[in-house]
Amino acid sequence: MNKAFHQGILIIESLEKNGHEAYFVGGSVRDTLMNRAIGDIDIATSATPEEIQAIFPKTIDVGAEHGTIIVVTSEQESYEVTTFRTDGIYTDNRHPDNVTFVKSLEEDLKRRDFTMNAIAMTKYGEIVDPFDGESDIKRRVIRTVGKATERFKEDALRMLRAVRFSSQLSFSVERDTFDGIRKDQALLEMVSVERKTAELEKLLMGQGVKEALELLVTTGLFAYLPHLGEKSKPLRELAKLPLHEFHSRSAIWTLLVIVLKVEDVECFLNSWKLPKKVTKAVNENIKVIEQVQRTGWVKEVIYRTGLDQSLEAHQVMNALGWDLQGMSVQIRKMYNSLPIHSLKDIVIDGNELINIAGEKRGKWISLLYQDLEMALIHEETENERAALKEWVCNWLQKYDQNY
Ligand code: ATP
Ligand code: MG
Repeated sequence: MNKAFHQGILIIESLEKNGHEAYFVGGSVRDTLMNRAIGDIDIATSATPEEIQAIFPKTIDVGAEHGTIIVVTSEQESYEVTTFRTDGIYTDNRHPDNVTFVKSLEEDLKRRDFTMNAIAMTKYGEIVDPFDGESDIKRRVIRTVGKATERFKEDALRMLRAVRFSSQLSFSVERDTFDGIRKDQALLEMVSVERKTAELEKLLMGQGVKEALELLVTTGLFAYLPHLGEKSKPLRELAKLPLHEFHSRSAIWTLLVIVLKVEDVECFLNSWKLPKKVTKAVNENIKVIEQVQRTGWVKEVIYRTGLDQSLEAHQVMNALGWDLQGMSVQIRKMYNSLPIHSLKDIVIDGNELINIAGEKRGKWISLLYQDLEMALIHEETENERAALKEWVCNWLQKYDQNY
């Protein structure tokens, strides 16, 4: 079995030694059957949360009332261990009102969303697959466990998960499941923005994003995502771009803002409740792209923007056909050959400047630094003590004449 499961096998063995059943479940089993790299490893067990906590020395209670305990095995590794459960009624179309712990694996698998996600695996690698998930994986289809509309009425997030998985796995959505989504699309209103954002980002970064964006439109789900209601046409435009090459959230959102021709960027990004850091980077990217469209990749832009963000803005422009393919090499070269990369690289510091000038601190320092940065970038002076002193004296003379 894949090496990644080794520690998990030890967890299963500990649970078994204490008289419980335990299996690998969820995405790690699906991805193993697909020969795909596995993400996090989830374990389902007949042990209750208290029993799990009693067996393992280091655990984190992330939702004992839903049966989930994290078992920490080392600094880098931890596993979600969840008690077999069935879900009660879902009155809010999103969360079960209550959950009941059960003793049977099959009952637990039945509450799971799609057949490909409702497969269990023993520590020996034997498959338990009551809903024929393996054959759906072979046929590359996403199908709900049980009747689609019932499952979507319970939890509307599953509709968006279906489209997200179709992107990540390049699977199609089985007919009844597709029809179910079309019928229940409006229930997506019940899902929090944060969950929509997380799913959309995964969707946009998936290998099958082109088909998934088409699905987002044909299922009607797009209309229940913030500010996308009127955007079926640009979403189809977006589908033509090489989105799967993007790995950064801010790059993805920058592309989205541009292709969707968003007018109020601030309002758009806020409505997706993105972290400040992402919003800031998107705004920066847009500014840089506008600047580059005016001036090209000049030294000053690369210096001000920094290497990583320059490359990100270039990636967005390149995807849009607005920049040359090989430009990233050029940007890197230009950045590396800049005489300084920030103010900190200037060999004389603020105190020394004041000494040279024999003046008090004041506004002149920041003006001088601005000019000095540019003089260095454009190689009008060298970043070396004597040359800098001379440049500073000349600058002060001109400054004194003007002020
Ligand atoms: P990923 O690779 O994205 O982690 P995953 O299948 O592991 O995919 P998770 O969100 O980690 O997805 O959930 C783990 C498992 O829990 C799923 O495989 C599925 O069996 C079950 N599950 C998760 N969310 C739902 C849901 N909304 N409804 C029903 N079952 C769910
Ligand atoms: Mg998972």
